[in-house]
Amino acid sequence: MRKFARLAIVMVASTHLLFAAAPGRADSDFKVTLLGTGTPIPNKDRFGPSTLVEAGDLKLLFDAGRGVPIRLQQINLPSGKISALFLTHYHSDHTSGIADIWLTGWLPPPFGRRNTPFRVIGPVGAKTLMSNLEKAYALDIKIRLDDEKLPPEGIATAVDEFDRDGVVFEKNGVKVIAFTVDHGAAIKPAVGYRIEYKGHAVVISGDTRYDQNVIKYGTGADLLVHEVGSARPELLAASVPVQRIIAHHTTPREAGMVFAQAKPKMAVYSHLVFLAGETIAEQTPEDIIAETRQSYDGPLMVGEDLMSFDIGDTVTVRPRGAP
Ligand SMILES: [Zn+2]
Ligand SMILES: [Zn+2]
Repeated sequence: MRKFARLAIVMVASTHLLFAAAPGRADSDFKVTLLGTGTPIPNKDRFGPSTLVEAGDLKLLFDAGRGVPIRLQQINLPSGKISALFLTHYHSDHTSGIADIWLTGWLPPPFGRRNTPFRVIGPVGAKTLMSNLEKAYALDIKIRLDDEKLPPEGIATAVDEFDRDGVVFEKNGVKVIAFTVDHGAAIKPAVGYRIEYKGHAVVISGDTRYDQNVIKYGTGADLLVHEVGSARPELLAASVPVQRIIAHHTTPREAGMVFAQAKPKMAVYSHLVFLAGETIAEQTPEDIIAETRQSYDGPLMVGEDLMSFDIGDTVTVRPRGAP
């Protein structure tokens, strides 16, 4: 596989889509920031999958892919301030940043300073993952406790596992609902999340093929963050490994079918699984939009790292670097 297509923000004209002229991040207290829109492929522009949802005073992180602390630093949010980490499944690109945010968030500088347990919520597997991370980093933890006198409660973990759909977190008016998705027969568990706050909802598909549960839980969402997998037809025809990967994901046309039925105020692609071959280029964001338009004509964005969304009566999109 070659590198991803050059990043591009594809804007789609819509009366639902408002670009704020001046207001700052403080205008809404329900915000979503795409911290990482990439895949396992190392790419400086698309870090590993991770989405930040800020609701009231809570900072909820969904998956922790490669580079999460760097993206958090770019929006001036200390890693130590994450209220809870939610996991969608256990593919490494979604979890490889966990140790970094857990350990770095404990350090004394302003980017750290966590002095309460690191909260993790996920389907079955979360406890094993975290307890083994504690074993893997036991010496670092012991050294920093002895040498730097860091607070032991800040490196503790508090892990909740669940094995069915339903509410998995409720605090300060924020409700998080987990729902099962279909990431392929061998990739279980796999879930998406619906986050509700003040009568609004953000839905994150997780990694999934076309799945009715995303439509069920995504219906009426203000923002639907959906994964997408794509490869040019000639690559798909020629490569069994590409066929296998694409079969684990949702094609743009299928995602359009999800959006057309769920009718979110805004749909955005994140976790862009754009595949390429030695001589066959990946599809471009414009290709993805065009294919989605075969089945959906509503508001749609192709995400990029640090693109953010203010959720209110309307959904305000801020491209990377916007105030
Ligand atoms: Zn996956
Ligand atoms: Zn994935």
